Amino acid sequence: MTCRDCPRYDMDAERCRDGKVNPLEWETAVSVSQVLGLRSICSFNRHRERLIAARAPLGRARPTR
Ligand code: SF4
Repeated sequence: MTCRDCPRYDMDAERCRDGKVNPLEWETAVSVSQVLGLRSICSFNRHRERLIAARAPLGRARPTR
């Protein structure tokens, strides 16, 4: 979901009301999660599950890409 389609998006302030980040590109999502933490990534973000899987301990399912 893009932010402008989301009911949590504040059109006047041009930001998420929840203070979340919704990066479009994988590289940006990785950088944001490294700097701000995984909790800063929106639950609607398309890269979030992959970021979570990438942090899983060895022996658990890990991303293949
Ligand atoms: S970051 Fe997520 S919750 Fe916030 S406005 Fe964007 S899509 Fe909605």
